[in-house]
Amino acid sequence: MSDNILSIIPTDPDWQPTAEAADAAMAVLRRLAPQLDGFVTTEYRTTWHEKVAAVDCGANLERIECPACQNAIDVEWWVDLLEERFEAGFANLTATVPCCGGEVSLNDLRYDWPCGFARFELEVWNPNRDWLTAAELAQLAAALGCDVRQILAHI
Ligand SMILES: [Zn+2]
Repeated sequence: MSDNILSIIPTDPDWQPTAEAADAAMAVLRRLAPQLDGFVTTEYRTTWHEKVAAVDCGANLERIECPACQNAIDVEWWVDLLEERFEAGFANLTATVPCCGGEVSLNDLRYDWPCGFARFELEVWNPNRDWLTAAELAQLAAALGCDVRQILAHI
């Protein structure tokens, strides 16, 4: 069986909240993406990653674009680079992109659908809803104490 996962991560890959802020943000997320009667079972997870982790959108990844030159970046190049840097916990996110040779943070590549890197993650497994709105993300950001990015993965 496949799963859909909605992840909320800080836009800053190194940032981690206090336990209190994490609990407050999860309470907001549970309200925004509640378990609905008669729908698929929704699960909620809060994770502090020891090192920076890649939070990707799985099968939803269609295209990666360079923020410097706007050209498409080969997804295979990106997957290989992620495998290479995984061991080091993405201590260094800067990469020389193949399209224009620019120095770009992997966190700043334009992912369609969105992906990111983080040391903290709030997850809703099988949410019974679609993307959060900008106003809803702002509520989560206020509770967490930092700007956030959402990732919808299909695995
Ligand atoms: Zn480029």
